Amino acid sequence: MMKTIRIIRIALSLAILLVTAMLVWLGHSDTLAQYQLTLNLSSIVLGVLITWLIVTLLVGRVYCSSVCPIGTLQDIAAWLDKRLRNGGKGYYHFVFANDRIRYLTLLLVAVSMTADERYSGYVPRLLDPSRLFADCLNMHGLLGASIFGLLGSGVAIIILVGILWMAYRGGGRTFCNIICPVGTALGVVSRASLYHFDIDTDLCTGCNLCVQECKAQCINPNDHTIDLSRCVMCTNCAASCPNRAIKFTNTRKRLSTPLMQPTA
Ligand code: SF4
Ligand code: SF4
Ligand code: SF4
Repeated sequence: MMKTIRIIRIALSLAILLVTAMLVWLGHSDTLAQYQLTLNLSSIVLGVLITWLIVTLLVGRVYCSSVCPIGTLQDIAAWLDKRLRNGGKGYYHFVFANDRIRYLTLLLVAVSMTADERYSGYVPRLLDPSRLFADCLNMHGLLGASIFGLLGSGVAIIILVGILWMAYRGGGRTFCNIICPVGTALGVVSRASLYHFDIDTDLCTGCNLCVQECKAQCINPNDHTIDLSRCVMCTNCAASCPNRAIKFTNTRKRLSTPLMQPTA
């Protein structure tokens, strides 16, 4: 069941990536604001923002697993590396959340957006995944219609290549969980999501397959917990678990025995 859901999710994310790219190529970038989250306050459709916040509160960061083009591109880069380096098997390990960097970045973006309108767009433009994607495919800019358009697209391409290189070199969703302000904001909400993945410690044998497949590197094998603020709802863990120990549930289970408590 989870394997089927995972295949559907991957197909959906690739389809959305293609549609998004086509919209940008055809010059309909404005349409993106009807389903994508952007940091450009002037173009935020409030309904879109509220919708995604509600969805995230209900089922976690599905926006990051299926809708954001930068997320899907990172997955493609990570998948390529897994195929080439490790025969398609995951090689991730758990890392603790870097709250200092991610919340400072979010604060920096929030503060910069309140600055004078002549300057308020610069920082968000560099870190806004939706606009980064659009800028990279902006033919008008790439063809050098204006020096600013060319510069904007050039900088965006350099940043995107850096993000994809990080994912390709084993970073998985590092950009999503340390730098992206949209991901950090969604993570604040998904921490309390109603439905989420949870490990049943009665069924778990500690094989670590889920940890190795978790590109968000947010499954702690010591205490069998999933950091919901970083989980991007990719379903990789549940699909890879041989014992069906990872459930999509609305219960918040406590650790089953004191022996499962993390060691200091
Ligand atoms: S964290 Fe940011 S870049 Fe990553 S998938 Fe979510 S919105 Fe996109
Ligand atoms: S893959 Fe399943 S059995 Fe293995 S560590 Fe993860 S939850 Fe436990
Ligand atoms: S915990 Fe599972 S669903 Fe969440 S990011 Fe990791 S592998 Fe994907």
